[in-house]
Amino acid sequence: MRLIMLGPPGAGKGTQGGMLARALQVPHIATGDIFRQAVKEATELGRRAKSYLEKGELVPDGIVVGIVLERLQKSDCEKGFILDGFPRTVQQAEALEGFLHQEGKELTGVILLDVDPEVLVERLTGRRVCRQCGATYHIRNMPPQREGRCDKCGGELYQREDDREETVRHRLQVHESQTRPLRDYYEKRGLLSVFAAARPIEEVFAAIMEQLGRGRQ
Ligand code: ADP
Ligand code: ADP
Ligand code: ZN
Repeated sequence: MRLIMLGPPGAGKGTQGGMLARALQVPHIATGDIFRQAVKEATELGRRAKSYLEKGELVPDGIVVGIVLERLQKSDCEKGFILDGFPRTVQQAEALEGFLHQEGKELTGVILLDVDPEVLVERLTGRRVCRQCGATYHIRNMPPQREGRCDKCGGELYQREDDREETVRHRLQVHESQTRPLRDYYEKRGLLSVFAAARPIEEVFAAIMEQLGRGRQ
C-alpha cells in the first residue's frame, strides 16, 4: 500500500501513520522527523532546514523533494510506504506523481484527517515527544505512564520548539495557504478519503482500516 497522510498540524498524522505502518508492515516516512533528526545531528541538511522549522515555515520544495524521492528509492519501500507530512505543496505532489509514474507505480490513496482548528491548538500545545525514539504523547489525551518519560524506551519527553502557541498559529496559517489546495488536487484524482479525526485515536484508526478493507471481519 502506498498511502499519504494529509491534514493540518495536530490532526493525528503521526499517530495514525505510525499505527498504520505497524499494521500494514510498511515504512512510516515522516518528513518532520527526518528534518528534526538532521537538525539534532547538525548535518548539512539540518543546517539548511533549521531556521524554517523554528519559524514554522515550510522548508523549500527543492530541498524536501530530493530527500523524499531518495528515501522512496530504498528497498524497504518496495512493499509500500506511508508518507506523513509530505507532500505539503502542489509542487511537491507533482514531483511525487512524476516519480511514481516513472517507476510504474501508483498511490493507493490519500487519508485526510479532518479536525477543527480549535482542537488543533489544544493538541499541538499539549503534544510531547520522546527525545530518544520520537514516540508522541499528549499531556491530557495520551499521557505517559510516568510523567515526562517515554513508555516505550524511558527517554525524556520534551515539547517541540514549534509547538509553542505562537508558532502553532503560524503553522496553521501556512497549512491553510500552502497545503489545503492538496485536498482538491487528490480529490480530482479520485484518491481522497476524508476521516473525522476529532474522536478517540482507536476509533479513527478503526475507520481507516475499515476503508482500506483491513477492518475486523
Ligand atoms: P500530526 O502528526 O498530524 O501533527 P500527531 O499525531 O502528532 O499529529 O498528534 C498531535 C497531538 O494530538 C499528539 O499529542 C497526539 O498524542 C494527540 N492526538 C493524536 N490523535 C488524537 C486523537 N484522535 N484524539 C486526541 N488526541 C490525539
Ligand atoms: P506536524 O506533524 O505538526 O504537521 P511536521 O513534523 O510534519 O509537523 O513538520 C515540522 C516542520 O518540518 C514543518 O513546520 C516544516 O518546517 C518542516 N516540514 C516537514 N515536512 C515538510 C514538507 N513536506 N515541506 C516543507 N517543510 C516540511
Ligand atoms: Zn521513547
